[in-house]
Amino acid sequence: MNQKIALFPGSFDPITKGHKSIVERALPLFDKIVVAVGTNTAKNSVFPLEKRLEWIRQTFNQYPQIEVVTFNSLTVDFCREIGAKYILRGLRNSTDFQYERNIARINQELAEEIETIFLMTKPDDTAISSSLVREILSFGRDVAQFIPEEITISINDIATK
Ligand code: ADP
Repeated sequence: MNQKIALFPGSFDPITKGHKSIVERALPLFDKIVVAVGTNTAKNSVFPLEKRLEWIRQTFNQYPQIEVVTFNSLTVDFCREIGAKYILRGLRNSTDFQYERNIARINQELAEEIETIFLMTKPDDTAISSSLVREILSFGRDVAQFIPEEITISINDIATK
C-alpha cells in the first residue's frame, strides 16, 4: 500500500546511457519507476514510437519494478492517473537546469502534491544526448558506446517510421 511511484517522462528518441543511469540510480529511492514516453510534445520524433518503447523495455528488462508506457496528457495529470507523487528528471548542465526549473515550477503550480526529483548526471554521461546519437547515426557511425548495452540501433531504424 502507498507505494512510492516516480514518473520518468521523456521523448527517449532514442534512450541513451544517460537515461539508463538516471533510472538505475533512482531505483533505491522508489518502489516503482514508470518510464513514460510522451507522445504529444512539440518535438517530432525521429524513431518510431514502437521502437523507442521496445528499446526502453529491453534496457530495463531485468527490473520488475520498472514499467514502460506512453502518455499523451499533461505530465502532472498522468502522474495523478497512475498515482505517481514524484517526477524524476536528470540534470546534465546549466542549460538543463534553466529549462527544468521552469517546468518544475509550473508543475508545482499545477499539482502541489507532486515533487520533481533531480539527479545530477554522472560525469561520463554529461555529453550524451539523444540528438547526438541521432546525428552520429545519420552519418553511418556506430553509436554503441552511447546507448545501453542491452540494445542495438542502426540507421535503418530511422527509415522504418
Ligand atoms: P525531453 O524531451 O523531456 O527532454 P529526453 O528524452 O530528452 O526528454 O530526456 C528525458 C530526461 O532525461 C530529462 O530529464 C533529461 O534531462 C534526462 N537526460 C537526457 N540525457 C541525459 C544524460 N545524458 N544523462 C542524464 N540524464 C539525461
